[in-house]
Amino acid sequence: MNPVAQRLQQVRERIQVAAERAGRDPETVRLLAVSKTHPVEAIVEAYGAGQRDFGENYVQELTAKAEALAHLSDLRWHLIGHLQRNKVKQAIRYANAIHSVHSAELAAELGRRHRALFGPDQPPSVRRILIEVNIGREPQKSGVDPEQLEPVVSAVAGESGLELRGLMCVPPISDDPEKSLPYFQALAQLRDRHGGAERLPELSMGMTFDLEPAIRAGATLVRVGTAIFGERPAKTVV
Ligand SMILES: *Cc1c(COP(=O)(O)O)cnc(C)c1O
Repeated sequence: MNPVAQRLQQVRERIQVAAERAGRDPETVRLLAVSKTHPVEAIVEAYGAGQRDFGENYVQELTAKAEALAHLSDLRWHLIGHLQRNKVKQAIRYANAIHSVHSAELAAELGRRHRALFGPDQPPSVRRILIEVNIGREPQKSGVDPEQLEPVVSAVAGESGLELRGLMCVPPISDDPEKSLPYFQALAQLRDRHGGAERLPELSMGMTFDLEPAIRAGATLVRVGTAIFGERPAKTVV
């Protein structure tokens, strides 16, 4: 087994243990492999080990990888990094899911670009949308403030071509994964106040560091990079 396949297996076991401890069916937690900064070869290894959902932070990098791996037609790309308006056109073309929608204006722009690219009704091209919430109310972080959520949810729900899927968050950085728990619980409560799992089925939360508390709080998608692909270089410049 290659190292990526091996580590992927370990992460799947972590998810299974955490789900069982939380009294949840492990099948209700999906793993998103965050491949940012890692080469396509690593993605191909993970794909070979059965992984199908991959997360990228930068539209340019996602585009390059999606084009290089277009032959893997059942591979799904998730954009999880901050989305700028001038990158929407490219994002809508390649990202099957976008976790970082943070305003009604951005939702409208995504809808417009989707119609321009795919026409009025092409169900296979529907883009799954999650709304990023700035759950720790950190000034330097992107995401909508918890109080401003409803207009963004409504805007996404109103766009043909976009499918409202749920909420996403990145809690404040800390030295202890348990410190993330109250933020994950806050996101779950926010979901309950805005229509519950029927309207917002997905909670995208938890990374290498804190996936266990995320699963305890109800995560349906955990976004894991380092534990699968290893350490990343300090910072990529795009
Ligand atoms: C990089 C990143 C991840 C993965 O982080 P790891 O600590 O490597 O697991 C998850 N979510 C977002 C938004 C990221 O930017």
